[in-house]
Amino acid sequence: MMNGDMEKILACRSCGSSDLKSFFDLGEHPLANSLLKDPNEAEQFYPLSLSWCGNCELVQLNETIRPSIMFRNYPWVTGTSKTVRDFSQVFSELALKKSKKDNPFVLEVASNDGTFLMPFIKKGCRVLGVDPAENIVEIAVKNGVPTLPEFFNAEISKKILEEYGPADIVVARNVLYHLANLQDVMNGIEHVLADDGVLIVEFHYAGEMLKDLHYDSIYHEHVCYYTLKTFEGLLKRFGLYAFDLDISPINSGGLIVYVSKIKSEESEALKLLHKKEEVQGVNEFKNWEKFAKRALEHKEKLLEMLKGIEKGSTIIGWGASTRSSTLLNFCGVDSTFLPAIIDMNPLRQGLYTAGTHILITSAEEGMARNPNIIFILAWNFADEISGMLKDTYNFKGSRIIPLPNEPRIIK
Ligand SMILES: [Zn+2]
Repeated sequence: MMNGDMEKILACRSCGSSDLKSFFDLGEHPLANSLLKDPNEAEQFYPLSLSWCGNCELVQLNETIRPSIMFRNYPWVTGTSKTVRDFSQVFSELALKKSKKDNPFVLEVASNDGTFLMPFIKKGCRVLGVDPAENIVEIAVKNGVPTLPEFFNAEISKKILEEYGPADIVVARNVLYHLANLQDVMNGIEHVLADDGVLIVEFHYAGEMLKDLHYDSIYHEHVCYYTLKTFEGLLKRFGLYAFDLDISPINSGGLIVYVSKIKSEESEALKLLHKKEEVQGVNEFKNWEKFAKRALEHKEKLLEMLKGIEKGSTIIGWGASTRSSTLLNFCGVDSTFLPAIIDMNPLRQGLYTAGTHILITSAEEGMARNPNIIFILAWNFADEISGMLKDTYNFKGSRIIPLPNEPRIIK
């Protein structure tokens, strides 16, 4: 049990070992999604730091925040980006190819607004979503996606099994690294998955994060940072085995892994990634220490770049995402550098970013300020945003793209 809102872990979330080596302290951060109605509102800050497990090599947060504080009113609606909606189509096709059933029952853990279940419904599948964010479950149900407003766990999985039967496809996108109660959720998945079913997991790949310096993907909701090796280590403890993978076309650095209860031969893609991990040393402690050092250097470079911008310039940000919160807070970029950030999600507009107190606006309002520089905080959608700037807003100024690796200005 937790005392207060936060606790420090004493053992690895995956293997239970107490051999944890801390290597990256990002300082005190607010919860990335605790947007403010008023910039003078009182805020809670929590330490944010990473450890590496000396036994199973999993990289993870040292801190666990009480889930009920983080997830009950999650201001993120999956369907707001066109890239994401397009991907949900592709995703359903990939999933159905891996399933052996004609009309599978598809269960999604942390299904958000139901965007990823809708293409399955169109293809005639029976679906069920589970998500704890009550405000977003309402949207899903309105969209015709049956959704339980619950935290998925072993107990809920028993209820689902009784009422709906075993799931032929279980989808867990960007969730297995968000959970404080990982063991409970894995037990639930193992329980509800049909013996010949397929579990499809998408997560931000820690190998890519290490290579391209995605330190902005570190935030309190994101507790585990899996490589293929450390993810398979977790699966095996629940009698589950990866058999294939795809690279996610969105979510720069995303990996989609296909898992079953039956141990079969690994695909070529899996074998290849195992080899790559070995060559690049993505599970080695010394490389994670280097990562921390590079992140601190990146912060200095970005601040130098922002301070060097001509006086009288108007910089507007684009994308008030969870990831941009870490970048802004870690680098100390606040409303003195950025008066506003454009975000297409109407649930965020009119609010202020956590810790850095920058106003979040619609594109219309943001562009009406006549910016000559756009700081693309949602850099993993840089192509889509750049295209929109040119085609919709006839924007002729410069763009700052902070990551991957080096911050840069494109004139
Ligand atoms: Zn471990």
